[in-house]
Amino acid sequence: MKKGKLIVFSAPSGSGKTTIVKHLLAQKELNLDFSISAASRDARGEEINGKDYYFISLEEFKQHIKAEDFLEWEEVYRDNFYGTLKSEIDRIWALGKNVIFDIDVAGGLRIKSKYPDETLAVFVKPPSIDELKIRLKKRSTESDDKINMRIAKASVELATAPQFDVVIKNYDLAVALEEATALVKNFVSQ
Ligand code: 5GP
Repeated sequence: MKKGKLIVFSAPSGSGKTTIVKHLLAQKELNLDFSISAASRDARGEEINGKDYYFISLEEFKQHIKAEDFLEWEEVYRDNFYGTLKSEIDRIWALGKNVIFDIDVAGGLRIKSKYPDETLAVFVKPPSIDELKIRLKKRSTESDDKINMRIAKASVELATAPQFDVVIKNYDLAVALEEATALVKNFVSQ
């Protein structure tokens, strides 16, 4: 199978990476398809099974781990497992497209280490931890407990930024979108 490119967007929850990834997916000339992760959490808000995530039970998730079906997986938050199925990459490459990922920092770095030549690993940096808190509260899809869990993890995640190929500062969304588009356009045309 002809390999496409792998474009990883990682960041602390609430940094705006999902918005950036959606914006890139809408640009047909970039020839991107979204890597749909498996997740053991419940669907949130308007999320759709098989589009945003493959929502599966914890038990099913553990069976996939045992069967070595994952390229990478993480227990991102306690009892919330997320992972990239190897079959996702095959599915997207078979379509002749490039894969774009919206995954946590550990998963993103793992993909980069497994496919160093094919991967562009991008870290999206929020203006500050306080701003992250405001964004997560505004989203109001999680309880205060869950928000606090995400904030606690964010500081650890911010420290991994230098390990990525590029850091995009999401201080002004319009600027971040423009920067991300230029970066990906250049990478997929190489
Ligand atoms: P959320 O619950 O907000 O959708 O996602 C929580 C975190 O898990 C986010 O940082 C998201 O990017 C990450 N995530 C989503 N899918 C995967 C995956 O397949 N692997 C890893 N390692 N992280 C993922």
